[in-house]
Amino acid sequence: MFLLAAFLCLPVTSFGQAVVIAPHPDDEILGAAERMMQLKEAGTDIWIIFVTGGEAKEWGDPEENENYSEQRLGESHMAAEIIGIPEDKIIHLGFPDQGLAKLSDAVYESPYSLISATHDSAHWAGLPYTKGYLENALRVLLGRISPDETYYTSPHDAHPDHAAVGEVMRDLLAERAEAGYEYTIHNRHFYPPYPKPHPDSMKLHLIQLFMSQFHDALHQSYLEHFAAKPEIFTRFVPAI
Ligand SMILES: [Zn+2]
Repeated sequence: MFLLAAFLCLPVTSFGQAVVIAPHPDDEILGAAERMMQLKEAGTDIWIIFVTGGEAKEWGDPEENENYSEQRLGESHMAAEIIGIPEDKIIHLGFPDQGLAKLSDAVYESPYSLISATHDSAHWAGLPYTKGYLENALRVLLGRISPDETYYTSPHDAHPDHAAVGEVMRDLLAERAEAGYEYTIHNRHFYPPYPKPHPDSMKLHLIQLFMSQFHDALHQSYLEHFAAKPEIFTRFVPAI
């Protein structure tokens, strides 16, 4: 496998289906809101797959974490609605937030939700938290959607959940002999020197729906700056 390292400013061509894979609710907006708006305008059907519900708030407090996850997913649904993505194209896999990089052959129990399998609110309930079940869930969905373009977080992202999704996706794209587009949310430059986002920016408006993530003014400003930075996608091409 190898990576074409060119950073692309992608042209919008006309095609049928695109899928954006977000490890947590908000990654799809921070990393690919503008791209999704362009695709939508070009008539593309967009699917969003949330790998986790973003529930990791308090250790050992399942109720609090579930409420938090519902709030975060609700914010993502609001943003998706504004972009024009219908509810039936939004999939929740319900794998463990802050646990994706820890998945292996052994069943993992989340210290946040205290569960070890996907629950009823997920697309498929009862999938044990193993790497194999995560891979297979994504494999089956890619098979059903058969996307023309697939977007997912880079294996080089500094967040372990994001990197884990990137690694799984590279393997699956290699199986399918298809290219993918990788986006990075967190890198080692925590506060990039981007200008203040333009107040009329639609992406800024979408980011501001994620009230649950505005833990303090500094973090809010960090998130809002994603509206001022260019969306960069790196094309991954598996070796055949
Ligand atoms: Zn994330």
